[in-house]
Amino acid sequence: MPRSRARARTSVPPEVAARAVADIGLYAELHLHLGGAILPNILFAHMQRDGHALMKRYPTYERFERFFTRRRTGLADYLKMHALVERLQRPADQHMFYFVTRLVRGAFLFDNLAYMELRHTPYNRTDAALDMRGRIGQMRSVVQAISAAASAQPQYPLVLRQILCMHSALPREVNEAICELAIEMSGEHEPMAGYNGGVVALDLAGPNEPYAERIGEFVALFRRARNRTGGRLKTTAHVFETDAGCFPKLLPYLDRIGHGIQIPLRYPKLLGRIAREGQCLEVCPTTYLRTGTLRDYTELRPVFARCKAEGVAIAICTDNGGLHNVRLPGEYENLLVRDVIGMEELGECLRASFRHAFAWKGPPPDPLRRVTIPR
Ligand SMILES: [Zn+2]
Repeated sequence: MPRSRARARTSVPPEVAARAVADIGLYAELHLHLGGAILPNILFAHMQRDGHALMKRYPTYERFERFFTRRRTGLADYLKMHALVERLQRPADQHMFYFVTRLVRGAFLFDNLAYMELRHTPYNRTDAALDMRGRIGQMRSVVQAISAAASAQPQYPLVLRQILCMHSALPREVNEAICELAIEMSGEHEPMAGYNGGVVALDLAGPNEPYAERIGEFVALFRRARNRTGGRLKTTAHVFETDAGCFPKLLPYLDRIGHGIQIPLRYPKLLGRIAREGQCLEVCPTTYLRTGTLRDYTELRPVFARCKAEGVAIAICTDNGGLHNVRLPGEYENLLVRDVIGMEELGECLRASFRHAFAWKGPPPDPLRRVTIPR
């Protein structure tokens, strides 16, 4: 028999090989920030390589890790750490490849992710020396740099999509430009094979304080995003996370709700409507401890119980797995070992995370049955 025929008979067809590899992924991460996703060891190696000034204050990894992952005094203090990482990720064309390729590798190999939605405010990764117009003009290349990095490692076949975040502390003109960019780029990932990292949704993040007086502006931008794309561009917003962040006016314009834990805790009457609208809560347990919103994971028990009773889906997410040093399987485990949820509820949340993913096609990956088969 000719050697080439023998080889052909024993080799696995590429589509079968690809499927076998893709099926390794188990979980879907729906709420993860590009700044807070970077693990302290990845960040430390990058800062060391660049001889960053902070290395004088935190010369050993242990000291840096303690500083980076410590508990914060509140949401505003917590958000300051995002600003630190954002500075390290500028300019995007030089630094983003390093961070995103390592993020994808770690998420696929160690966190068992099949799917990830990565969110960020593109304006905050542009060159801070430029004026506002110049920075707005650079935002598209930030998004493209992330897509290029997300597409660069086919050996880690993780489906990655981007969510662009408007920010409550940025001027109206910038948020409008972020909304427009998300609208423009939202169709780009569909037809191209091998292209990972397309834009699927628009978010609103940042401190709660400016929300109240700007709520009309944010509602108008979400409405624009939906109307102009016929709903192709999805929406989510950081809302009902803390006592100060409860803005029901945003809810009718959202496909999912970023956090939303104050709804079952303080406004349970809203749950019926949220169930009817099919809006899923993105619950990020460790965040609430780090921001001081909750004191213990067990305070989330009524959140899961009331949502289950009313038929509201919950996807468990990390928000900032690097900043917390708690990765997605760790979030699941933290809730299970404290009996905040049982295996049945975990299975429901895992399935919900794929059902409410903005760009996951078809049923959850086969291996998920290992953890979600009813007993
Ligand atoms: Zn968040």
